[in-house]
Amino acid sequence: LRNGMDLKRLVRTIPDYPKPGIMFRDLTTLFADPAGLRAAVDEIVWPFFKAKAQIDIIIGIEARGFILGGAVAHELGRGFVPIRKKGKLPHKTIGQDYSLEYGVDTIEIHADAIKPGDRVLLIDDLIATGGTAVAAAELIHRSGGEIVAAAFIIDLPDLGGTARLRDKGIAVHTLMEFE
Ligand code: 5GP
Repeated sequence: LRNGMDLKRLVRTIPDYPKPGIMFRDLTTLFADPAGLRAAVDEIVWPFFKAKAQIDIIIGIEARGFILGGAVAHELGRGFVPIRKKGKLPHKTIGQDYSLEYGVDTIEIHADAIKPGDRVLLIDDLIATGGTAVAAAELIHRSGGEIVAAAFIIDLPDLGGTARLRDKGIAVHTLMEFE
């Protein structure tokens, strides 16, 4: 990182969570660290700060994308729009199904949250297979928005999510990688 801080050591790894064989990268330890949270938000915002006139809205994905996305929106001086798991948003929504290892899940956005032509910075804590982010990108496009970029603290490159987004023409910014 530009300030020399080792953000990676603030990420806690939990073996076999949520099931055997998965190494869960726990960001609650990074978020709880004052200098770590500030550095992570600053580094996520950095490539967009000078070009913030090209971003209209920040969209964060439930739930850790809310923590990061809210801070990014504040720093860029833009509003924040949530994408949530099915059934959580109170007003009229549009939904997008996406496949998980077993079965499907659905994420939703308020139908009126994005104005046609809105330029979006999409935020989540971590990208793995990219299934969640691709579904979010679909919701944004169906809402009439344009994605300027997608940004994540952690990339798990072996799972292919960042490559999937880049194949779709979406610029991707990440801060660190884990196997
Ligand atoms: P994907 O859809 O890219 O396979 O998975 C990414 C989504 O699952 C993100 O919303 C992310 O928060 C969550 N996720 C998957 N694995 C991990 C992990 O090891 N740590 C954390 N913090 N989130 C994960």
